[in-house]
Amino acid sequence: MPENNEKNIIKRRAVFMIVITVVIIAVGFALMVMYAGGKKLTKITSYGFNMNTALTLNFFVPEKEADAYSGEDGKNPWSEDIKSLVGRLDRKVLSRRSQGSEVYAFNEWQSTEKFEVSEELYSAVVLCQDIAEKSHGAGDITLGNLIVEWGIEDIAEKGTDVGREEGIEETIVPTREELDAAAATIGYEHLTAINENGKYYLQKDIPYLTLDLGAAGKGYALDKVWKYLKNQDTETLNSAVIALGGSILVYGSRTSKIGIQDPLSDGMKQMGVLTISGLGKNEAAFVSTSGDYEQYVEEKNESGVIKKYHHILDPDTLYPADTGLRSVTVIAKNGLISDMLSTACYVLGMEESAELLAEYECEAIFIAKDNKVYCTSGVIDSFKIENDTFVPGGALN
Ligand code: ADP
Ligand code: MG
Repeated sequence: MPENNEKNIIKRRAVFMIVITVVIIAVGFALMVMYAGGKKLTKITSYGFNMNTALTLNFFVPEKEADAYSGEDGKNPWSEDIKSLVGRLDRKVLSRRSQGSEVYAFNEWQSTEKFEVSEELYSAVVLCQDIAEKSHGAGDITLGNLIVEWGIEDIAEKGTDVGREEGIEETIVPTREELDAAAATIGYEHLTAINENGKYYLQKDIPYLTLDLGAAGKGYALDKVWKYLKNQDTETLNSAVIALGGSILVYGSRTSKIGIQDPLSDGMKQMGVLTISGLGKNEAAFVSTSGDYEQYVEEKNESGVIKKYHHILDPDTLYPADTGLRSVTVIAKNGLISDMLSTACYVLGMEESAELLAEYECEAIFIAKDNKVYCTSGVIDSFKIENDTFVPGGALN
């Protein structure tokens, strides 16, 4: 157990700063390709802030339709609908911080009796539990207490040690006792999702187990956005690129170029570009990145050595995951899967991820700590490194 006498948190990162950069990069590239199916397209962009992160919405409409919109922030029929659907999903269903949400209520429900939830939460949990099983617990939505114990996000965002009582602890690293106490209340095998007589329930066999859907929520929200977009008139709305934090939805037939963050620049720059093409009308691809640079705290110990603690935790060690990776990007046909798998693959490491990626028919880009970049075979030709610091490591599977 570290015994730093002086709390010395030397750096903090607000996630939205990084996210805004990714989004700007993605949007910049989006601007470069404005034709689809021979029709000239006009881009309409608007911004929001949801799920504690930046939301950037790009819609591509035929030029002749564009006059109907201002072309400037917000004036289109879709933005407000999407902002409110993502906001509602967060506040009412997924957020562990929002007092009105189902996850909040379930976390307060310190009982092993079953707890009724919406179909929306139930479906998300069912898919998360499937991923938890297939990743052998690397991606696990029941880590609530461990995540709160570390409090990395709170510290990274607010710059103060809000997760603990002032003066009691000297370092951000929880004590062994705290980690063991949290460990006794985690584990996906202690959570069951039940569908009974048209009603939906969650049930835990440890009363103090709590949920945290931070690794899946943004992707799940993008699944809902896709559903919404599919119901719009495709003659008017040709294509869209919607970015919610590190998760991006690419919708429609227009070719898109998505910037992949440079983990050495805290994600403020991009290190390469992924081209997504060949989607049909109404089809979508989801791209999600998880990395050690997104939310972290650095702490200097007594000997002046700086150690970095980031927000992706390994349930086996109870510490931030350390599998030799800087980031993992997962490309999938489903938003929740791309989001949850990017987190799980980060925890598993490159070799161990192959089976999981194959299971869900996903592609991935791994950036290792030696700056080598590895791609699965399905994206090796569509991903281009643009920064000399990074070198191709070759194809996986
Ligand atoms: P971000 O939210 O920055 O896009 P991720 O999608 O990788 O990044 O999710 C990280 C979040 O997921 C953490 O902030 C935490 O809330 C939660 N989390 C951390 N470790 C795990 C894990 N092993 N499995 C599931 N969720 C995790
Ligand atoms: Mg994730």
